[in-house]
Amino acid sequence: MSRYKPRELLNFAVKAFHSRNDNDLSIGQLKARTEFVKTFNNLKRNNGKSIEHKQVASIQGDMGYLMNCLDRFFFFGCLMSQMKLEATMNTMFEKDPSTGKRWESDTTLSIEDDKLFVKVRLNLGQNKPYNLQILLGRLVHEIVHAWYLYFSCTCEYCERDLLNTTGHPSDQHGPLYLMLHRLLVTEIRRWDATLEDFLADDCPGGKVSRSAKKSFDYFMADLGKDEKEKYNRLRSYNFGAQLFVRLTDDGKVKVRPELKHKQLNMEDTLRGRSLREKELMEDKENYLKPEEENYEEENYQDKYPEIEEEMSEAKYLIDEEEMSEDLGKGLKRARKQYYTYLPSPRSDIEQSGQEGMLLDLRSPSSFLSFYQ
Ligand SMILES: [Zn+2]
Ligand SMILES: [Zn+2]
Repeated sequence: MSRYKPRELLNFAVKAFHSRNDNDLSIGQLKARTEFVKTFNNLKRNNGKSIEHKQVASIQGDMGYLMNCLDRFFFFGCLMSQMKLEATMNTMFEKDPSTGKRWESDTTLSIEDDKLFVKVRLNLGQNKPYNLQILLGRLVHEIVHAWYLYFSCTCEYCERDLLNTTGHPSDQHGPLYLMLHRLLVTEIRRWDATLEDFLADDCPGGKVSRSAKKSFDYFMADLGKDEKEKYNRLRSYNFGAQLFVRLTDDGKVKVRPELKHKQLNMEDTLRGRSLREKELMEDKENYLKPEEENYEEENYQDKYPEIEEEMSEAKYLIDEEEMSEDLGKGLKRARKQYYTYLPSPRSDIEQSGQEGMLLDLRSPSSFLSFYQ
């Protein structure tokens, strides 16, 4: 089980999708988005009429599918194998102290057969299914919880700073939650005309979720003195204008352009290099292909000294090329540094980011190591 600092999780997720052009999105992301929009519009067309009469099993299937698309677009599909969605009718959870109403979805960590996973519970409706916007809003709300819950580091240092990151364990709507949630909403609104007003009530304009913020504020106001002393004080909104992602005092989220552009530059370099490597492989294969005619096996190097000379020169050229690969070295160094100060291996997130691994461009490890 790999754990990451919450702010790294935020930056890592944001740079993979925030305000990217289509040609900077991965094939997997584009596919997930297309499937999401298609499913959403199909459901929307039927909504109000047949979604209410749809079989519960079929709505459960739809919700699971939408969740899966969100995971593949925003989180490299890292959550898929560690997340279970339990969508049922007529299920209410604990009371939300900030509103007095009962929660209708929640996300918790569970252990089953010695394996840790996140359980997302969703109430599909009371007697009849809720409308699609409500259900989708809850899916987006919960998937952000799932991301932080499953991957956040729980060391003493990270625990102490919870009020400034993911929030108090009983609340979980801290500043980093609010920011990532809002950036997901912003992105989803770009996907289709039918999604332009997604969560317009809860996240008006560029603002973070009102309900989540309300819950956070309520909890903070209610926090006892003893509890408060367990944590670092809540830092002001203006704290860390240099940070890649921050909240403004009017409740909006700002992302430094460098977050995206540094990442894109790195991807371009890696992509260029991997194309070059492929070309070299092909050229080598061609070069080594046996000639059509048979020729006698002979020791050419003894017979023709200039061949030997040429070979050693070629070797020299290759060496020099390797020497000039600053980026490769820099990346290796960054990766090394990263591994040394983090306590746990980070195999989970890497293994599940299969698409990233295949492309060798979007793999979480290359993201993380770059931003040290
Ligand atoms: Zn930690
Ligand atoms: Zn929540």
